[in-house]
Amino acid sequence: EPVPQAEMDGFCRIFGVETEYGVAVTGADSPVDAGQVAMTMFQPVVSRSRSTNTYLPNGSRLYLDVGSHPEYATAEARDPMDALAQDLAGERVMRGLARKAQDALRAAAGEHAVIHVFKNNVDSAGHAFGCHENYLVRRFVPLETIERQLLPFLITRQLYTGAGRVTEEGFQITQRADFLDEAVSSATTRSRPMVNTRDEPHADPDSFRRLHVIIGDSNRSQWATWMKLATTHLVLCVIEEAFRCGKPSGFEDCALDDPAAANRAVSRFLTGEAGFALSLQRHYYTVVERFLAKPSAHNNLSLTATNVMQIMTQWKLALDELEAGHYDALADRVDWAAKRRLFAALHKRRPDISFAQVEQLELDYHDIANGRLYASLSSRGQLHELLDDVAAERAMATPPSDTRAALRGRFVKQALDAGAQFSADWTHLTLTVPERREAVLLDPFSNEPTAEYERLMESL
Ligand code: ATP
Ligand code: MG
Ligand code: MG
Repeated sequence: EPVPQAEMDGFCRIFGVETEYGVAVTGADSPVDAGQVAMTMFQPVVSRSRSTNTYLPNGSRLYLDVGSHPEYATAEARDPMDALAQDLAGERVMRGLARKAQDALRAAAGEHAVIHVFKNNVDSAGHAFGCHENYLVRRFVPLETIERQLLPFLITRQLYTGAGRVTEEGFQITQRADFLDEAVSSATTRSRPMVNTRDEPHADPDSFRRLHVIIGDSNRSQWATWMKLATTHLVLCVIEEAFRCGKPSGFEDCALDDPAAANRAVSRFLTGEAGFALSLQRHYYTVVERFLAKPSAHNNLSLTATNVMQIMTQWKLALDELEAGHYDALADRVDWAAKRRLFAALHKRRPDISFAQVEQLELDYHDIANGRLYASLSSRGQLHELLDDVAAERAMATPPSDTRAALRGRFVKQALDAGAQFSADWTHLTLTVPERREAVLLDPFSNEPTAEYERLMESL
């Protein structure tokens, strides 16, 4: 079993992805409020756990704040591939809730009522919502440094992780750039708003932080979810290692004069405004490559499922294709490129297609409850998948085995099976009925039951 000091010395990381979904109804006899639909979706959750905020047997968190954006936060994973599996499980959990709510809705609003659950970032009213990435980082690196050296990377990695968006003005490669102005512009002086200002490490606060990245798009492409976590991990490794050794990281000169403008330009990459983005990515790639060549980078040991060289190969290939303008070659793994190819073909076939019709099709791509487009692309092999249905289904019931999520998942499963009442957060498990007991899980890397945890389980 890993000892805490080894976690400090090494490059081990905890990954988590929070996804907010958008909800809408079409085909109903009368207008249906999205907030009402979200509440209907959460009816089974409320009746099981007496709350719209709960944890699942796979260790993840499922919740609904006020409004109509249900959220799923993946259990702690040590590898981007495991985080991906957990995120796909979240899509399926949401789909299950939506299908059930749809049956109920049809009784009241007609048999043609359809519930849509969008894994995207902008709703029809122009409100943006998020997909947050969480990375455990070592506290010896000042947050300011991480932010300053990471922000240019996060802005430019959208070249291959952007989800794309049709707008009246033209096709953009990201969903959120036009909505993140404030977040990114305040970054000129301090890039705080791109990460959460709250200091909630969900781990030993003396050793770790939880970096909370809000700038990214939600992805349907599995490759994109995996790549954004994997490449960001490697960049964080370089920054941490530089601090450990008291040497420059190589990212000192990457800062962008105007991050907000840079972000908007990246989103308009296809109009040729963002050449700098490719060179910055090349620079980050080169620095990471140099870092991996050093013997100190026992980095290969830090990921449990992902091969680091595979990340590098995929990263380089993506940059090469972008530079060559071979966007269609990326269409099997980059969301925006998949959409772009699709819409181009559509415009060719139906030159008079309206903006609204294209928008409709785009929404279908993001609809994880009733959408057809994404499934049809992947079943025809036009969108490459890293994990199959079996793996995703399995992740609905199985937490990552090598983090504290394993302990949480086992507790939640047994509590549900026993009809007990419980509550939880990332670091606590609390049994309330039949008796009150608590266990603290401060170390996210540990799947070892403590004596306290054993007692808690015995009470079940
Ligand atoms: P909000 O929804 O208000 O933004 P939040 O971002 O603080 O809340 P959650 O929605 O509860 O938090 O999601 C937390 C995410 O952080 C989860 O995906 C979880 O797996 C991950 N996580 C938990 N502990 C750690 C940790 N020590 N380091 C990094 N990530 C963590
Ligand atoms: Mg959240
Ligand atoms: Mg969050």
